[in-house]
Amino acid sequence: MGLIKNPRVAAFLAGGTFFTIQTIIGVSIGIGLGFGLRETDVVWHQRNVMYLTFVGDLFIRTLSALILPLIVSSLIDAVGSMDLSLSKKIGTQALVFYLATTAVAAVLGIILAVIVRPGDHSSIDSGDECTASESSTVDVLLDLVRNVFPDNLVGAAMEVTTTVVDRSNASLNYDESPLELTMTPGKNMMGLVVFSLVLGVVLGNMGEAGKPVLYFFKSLGEASLLITSKVVMVSPLAICFLIAGQLVKQDDIGAVFQNIAWYFATVMGGLAIHGCLILPGLYILLTRTNPLPFFANMFEALATAFGTASSSATLPVTMRCLEEKNKVDVRVSRFVIPIGATVNMNGTALYLPVGAIYIAQLCGRTLGFGELVTISLISIATSVGAAGIPQVGMIILMTVLGSVGLPVDYMGFIMPLDWLLERFRTAVNVLGDSIGAGIVAHMSKADLAKIDAAAEERRAMEEMEQGGVNSPSSPPPYQDGKDAV
Ligand code: ASP
Repeated sequence: MGLIKNPRVAAFLAGGTFFTIQTIIGVSIGIGLGFGLRETDVVWHQRNVMYLTFVGDLFIRTLSALILPLIVSSLIDAVGSMDLSLSKKIGTQALVFYLATTAVAAVLGIILAVIVRPGDHSSIDSGDECTASESSTVDVLLDLVRNVFPDNLVGAAMEVTTTVVDRSNASLNYDESPLELTMTPGKNMMGLVVFSLVLGVVLGNMGEAGKPVLYFFKSLGEASLLITSKVVMVSPLAICFLIAGQLVKQDDIGAVFQNIAWYFATVMGGLAIHGCLILPGLYILLTRTNPLPFFANMFEALATAFGTASSSATLPVTMRCLEEKNKVDVRVSRFVIPIGATVNMNGTALYLPVGAIYIAQLCGRTLGFGELVTISLISIATSVGAAGIPQVGMIILMTVLGSVGLPVDYMGFIMPLDWLLERFRTAVNVLGDSIGAGIVAHMSKADLAKIDAAAEERRAMEEMEQGGVNSPSSPPPYQDGKDAV
């Protein structure tokens, strides 16, 4: 107790460094615990793993429950409270950054897989020749656009529309086969984000009449962030058990690793180049500032991404780190991060082409330039459309394989280590979202300062008109990001 009264200790605890250390300890203990428990006599069947990861699962469930109120309310509030031309500018900058870095990641994945040729170094005996699976690029793109227009907003929080082609009749070719639009479980984030943007713009244009609804969403967003700040307190413990749980349920990690070491190294190398060179390089280029403190301040979010394997579940933590530690203006973070978490998945966009080209190499198939272009386009489109949930990368890899007629069953070779690769990709996904928000915040600084100065001037005038009597009206909702929770 006496220790906490010491101002230096109190400042250390409040500054978040202590929590970062706790998170590092959580990750380290989780790795040690996982390897230690593998050596015990306990049989790690599903039930035992469930007991071990129980706390971690509760953590993921709670964060996931916060995503919807947080994304919807942040976007409506951010767009509705901002000048339309500025929100257009910020939104466009964010979208351009996210789509451009996604494209760069996909092309980097292709270049690495073509140069390294991980499939040629593999000891996997691929057996019989490949039996191709099918899926249509057009269906993928149309599903992406279709989900932007949800027909039911409540349903959009629970399911996405997917085109399923019935290939049971072998006499019909793909285009002639019957198709059905099915609803698959998951959040239609694209639809919700676009609807929230539109609602925010309309409420903002309505002037006084729109204010009550805007205030409602503002409070809802802040309440969600407050809950987040309590929930993340258990993250070191939760991450520890999540990592230990993953480790105990793996078979012979060493043997699996040997089989696909080149593939693993290619994806990891790509993620390292993208996360440690390209993204920081862009940050330096566009903000002319040292990216290291920015990265260090995002550590909790990166560790949460690694522990949960879900960039969506990490979103509340990402927002908190940006606002509280990196001091990103709340008007930018609350606008840009929901967009980033929905459309941006740099790590996944990089891994998809490597996975597809690796499988082609295992099959002994050389992909032509056109097929590589198709792979990169489908990787970009699917990573934009997919929600940041665990194992989504594996699911959308099936679509990428189908688009160039590669066999889905070959995924069995890469699946055993995907749990680990996925954690690194998710961390890169979150890093991309955060760097995007940091860069956009930097580029909008002058515009936001102008708005603050004008609001300040208006307030001073009002006060003067009232004869210097202190106005009872509340201060403007945003001044310098300090009204962040
Ligand atoms: N699970 C990852 C995410 O949430 C995506 C992936 O599987 O590649 O971002």
